[in-house]
Amino acid sequence: MDKSEITTANKTDDAGLVQANSSEKQGQGNFIHDIIDQDMASGKYGGRVHTRFPPEPNGYLHIGHAKSICLNFGTALKYGGKCNLRFDDTNPTKEDVEYVESIKEDVRWLGFDWEDREFYASDYYEQLYECAIKLIEKGKAYVCDLSAEEIREYRGTLTEPGRPSPYRNRSVEENLDLFRRMRAGEFPDGSRTLRAKIDMASPNINMRDPVIYRISRAHHHRTGDKWCIYPMYDFAHPISDSIERITHSICTLEFEDHRPLYDWFLDELGAYHPQQIEFARLNLTYTVMSKRKLLELVKNGYVSGWDDPRMPTISGLRRRGYTPEAIRNFCERIGVAKANSTVDIALLEHCLREDLNLRAPRAMAVLRPLKVVIDNYPEGQVEWFDAEINPEKPELGTRKIPFAKVIYVEQDDYSEDPPKGWFRLAPGKEVRLKYAYYITCREVVKNDAGQVVELHCTYDPASRGGWTEDGRKVRGTLHWVSAAHAIPAEVRLYDKLFTVENPDEGDFRANLNPDSLQILPDALLEPGLKEAKPGDCFQFLRQGYFCMDPDSTPDRPVFNRTVGLKDSFKGGK
Ligand code: ATP
Ligand code: MG
Repeated sequence: MDKSEITTANKTDDAGLVQANSSEKQGQGNFIHDIIDQDMASGKYGGRVHTRFPPEPNGYLHIGHAKSICLNFGTALKYGGKCNLRFDDTNPTKEDVEYVESIKEDVRWLGFDWEDREFYASDYYEQLYECAIKLIEKGKAYVCDLSAEEIREYRGTLTEPGRPSPYRNRSVEENLDLFRRMRAGEFPDGSRTLRAKIDMASPNINMRDPVIYRISRAHHHRTGDKWCIYPMYDFAHPISDSIERITHSICTLEFEDHRPLYDWFLDELGAYHPQQIEFARLNLTYTVMSKRKLLELVKNGYVSGWDDPRMPTISGLRRRGYTPEAIRNFCERIGVAKANSTVDIALLEHCLREDLNLRAPRAMAVLRPLKVVIDNYPEGQVEWFDAEINPEKPELGTRKIPFAKVIYVEQDDYSEDPPKGWFRLAPGKEVRLKYAYYITCREVVKNDAGQVVELHCTYDPASRGGWTEDGRKVRGTLHWVSAAHAIPAEVRLYDKLFTVENPDEGDFRANLNPDSLQILPDALLEPGLKEAKPGDCFQFLRQGYFCMDPDSTPDRPVFNRTVGLKDSFKGGK
């Protein structure tokens, strides 16, 4: 990808909100912006741009929603327009305030602001009811007594036309009476529906007299028990868009076949008419993106919750250590297209690494400690070495790291029987301890089981700071922590949640990776990390980026590995 494309990513102000920037375009432009450009030029909608992000509060948002959020809010910012947050809450049995709250938190965290425009389809129930009455009065809707199953049967198939319901020709008066009585609660759940009267022979099945109201005595998280009839999404959505005077109603491709219905409702009602535009939804390798499946992962305990750091939810990515900037940048780069495709998850991680490389302070942490005693180092002596906070940002200066006689290094930085080209510790080998000294391995202590439990080394006092005047070659550089100063911590390493690129093929549960979480209970951190707070991100030298987890307690920090330093998706683990 070309550099200029990267640098035109959204800018962020101090509060983290994405701001429109007059000199830099929001994004590279896309076919939706081309349509809007034409509408601006022709004066359609009076030069206004007003979009909306319309989640159904029946689950937590995921990275696919982030694409829609960036597109809808980003488009409004680009054109100096507005974007509403609208909850499409027409299915009370599946919806909950917990989801409403999480959605608001996630949109805000991504850096977008709906100002005072927080709307709910349920705010429009009365108006939607009036619209239904209007359709009945026009002879364009009727009450149908067929059961759900019969409706399906009458509807026909892609190759066969549907058959008209026996109730299709009820009089306007009878329909008005029955629909009012539906609302009044006179009929049992599921016994009747209100249907649009369109065309049972239409090649588009969505136009074959779709149901627009159903009877359901479900408690709604906002309207309580006020209603026992609820509008269908396909009816509520265009009318909600119209009420809010949306100009461009951007949705995903699966709604393309619903557009004629969207248009039909607004035309029949003679209502203000936004333009629906469809784009390809985001699919990612190694990821399931259906809310239903994500809910199942949560409900059945395959993950610890919606915000499990392995989840593709916004809250999971946040807990994992993703930044809003990385996610926005990713959404920018994948672009907006008209054809479905699957994006390599490595691109998401690449965007993250790029952001964290600039942002994350460096630290040393030993994940699987091996004790090293430096025999010739004075007992009780402590030296404090300077270490850079971030080599990408020299202006941030340095931090202090203590060095002493007993330190820890990574277990896998020692090999008893090293392969060719091994530059780390091995019997008799010399390595550099980052920022400190050269040490040479002299002696190995094993336990009864024959495992290496301790190394004895000597250091070269002339190599202070990690170099010598004689310029001798020491190719391996290890990270380490001082035993007396280190902070014990738990580190959680993550692998892909699914073992196959397309987990939706077959039963997604069968594709779960049993080793997606590995807990390292004995990690040791450099002492400066005691100031860290949950959410803080660091680069642990040679180990990747790590983010402090909310499970941390004052005496036991927990860190999630956000992402390794290199792409883990190419060539296996
Ligand atoms: P469902 O309708 O099955 O509950 P959904 O993922 O479509 O799930 P919505 O709450 O309806 O969830 O989605 C809100 C908005 O986000 C919609 O405009 C939808 O088209 C868009 N969206 C959902 N998934 C994706 C995705 N993978 N890529 C891009 N946009 C998406
Ligand atoms: Mg949807």
